[in-house]
Amino acid sequence: MGNMENCRLNASYSGNAPFPTETTHLHESLIDSLSDGVIYLDDMGVIRFLNRAAEELLQVNREFVVGKRIDMLPLRTPLYKVLSEYCRDEPVEISISGRVVRVNAAEMPLPDGAGFGEIVELHDVTREKSERRQREEFVAMMTHDLKSPLTVMMGYVQAIKHDMLDTVDPSVRSCIKEIDRSSYKLLGMIEDILDAYRLEVGLLQIHREFCDMKDILQGCCRDISQEAQVRGIEFTYDISDQIPPMKIDGKQLGRVFANLIGNALKFTPRRGKVSVTAEMGDDSVLVSVLDTGIGIPEKDLPRIFNKYYRSESAVGFKGTGLGLTITKAIVDAHKGTIEVESKEGGGSRFDVTLPTTLSEW
Ligand code: ADP
Repeated sequence: MGNMENCRLNASYSGNAPFPTETTHLHESLIDSLSDGVIYLDDMGVIRFLNRAAEELLQVNREFVVGKRIDMLPLRTPLYKVLSEYCRDEPVEISISGRVVRVNAAEMPLPDGAGFGEIVELHDVTREKSERRQREEFVAMMTHDLKSPLTVMMGYVQAIKHDMLDTVDPSVRSCIKEIDRSSYKLLGMIEDILDAYRLEVGLLQIHREFCDMKDILQGCCRDISQEAQVRGIEFTYDISDQIPPMKIDGKQLGRVFANLIGNALKFTPRRGKVSVTAEMGDDSVLVSVLDTGIGIPEKDLPRIFNKYYRSESAVGFKGTGLGLTITKAIVDAHKGTIEVESKEGGGSRFDVTLPTTLSEW
C-alpha cells in the first residue's frame, strides 16, 4: 500500500499506561498513534479495527462500529461512504463535512493465514488541495496579468510591421523592429519564470502524443539559422531521418532544443561554430548541441541546471538562469537524460538522450 509511506507516527508512547505486552496490542497502539486513519476489515467485511484518526475523520465512535459488517452500517454515514467505495486500484477522494479525504485500500492477509482481509487508509488532503488550487489560481492570474497586455502590444507592433512599416520614417522603423524583438524576449522570460514556478509547485504539465521529432528539430534549426548568420556564426545541423515518430510533448521538447541551441549561439562569439546532430541509438535518440564558445568553468558545471544559476563567465550575456532548469525538467519528464561536457574557453557539448520505446512511458 503505497500511501502507507505517507503515514507519520505523530506520537510516541507516553508510558502512563501499561505498555502492551501482546504483539497485536502493540501494533494496535502504534496504528492508533498514526495521523492517518486506518480501518481493518476481515474477509467477511466485518470491521475489526479503526484507529483514532479514522474516528476523528469519519466522526464515528469505534465502540459502535467495530464488529459490524459494512452492510449493517447506516447508509448516510461517512464511514459507510468510505467503505462502500472501491479504491484498491486507485485512491479515491471523498468529501466529508467540508474536508477532502483520500482513501485507498489494499488486501491484507489475515493473521491466521486463512484468507485475506482489507486495510483501508484515510489521508486528509484538504490543505494540500486548497494550496494547489491557490497555486493554480496564482499561475492563471500571473499568466493573464503579465502576458495579456504584452500580447496586445505585440499584436499592434505586428500590424504596424506588416501594414505601415514602409510609410514610417526609417529611424522609427528601427525602433519598431527593436520593440518587436524585445517584446518577444520579454514574453519568453515571462514564460520561463511562470514555468519555473509551475515546476516548483508541480504544475508543469507534459502532454505526450505521437510527433515527428525530426520535424521539430529541423524547425528549431531552421529558425535559428538566420540568427546565426546575423551573428556571424557557422551553423550546421544533421538530423537522421531514421528517427521514428515518438510519443512526446512536441511543444515542450521544441523549447528544450531551442533553448540549448539558443544558448550555444548566445555564448559563442562571432566566427565561432555551432552544430546540432540527432542520431538513433539502440532504443533512444541522441541529440547533441556543440559549440566553440566561451565554455563553462569546471566548478560551475554541477550547478548550471539549478534554478537562476548563471556562471560568472555568463556576466554580460542576457538571461535568467532558468532555461536549463526547465530544459532538464522536461527531459526528465520524458525519462531522458541530459549531459554536459565543457571547458572554460573551449566550447560546450550538451547531449540529450530520449528513449524511443513505448514500453518506457
Ligand atoms: P541563461 O542562458 O538564461 O543564463 P540557462 O539556464 O540556459 O540560463 O543557463 C545557465 C548557465 O549555464 C548560463 O548562464 C551559462 O553560465 C551556462 N551555459 C549554458 N549553456 C552554455 C553554453 N552553451 N556555453 C557556455 N555556458 C553555458
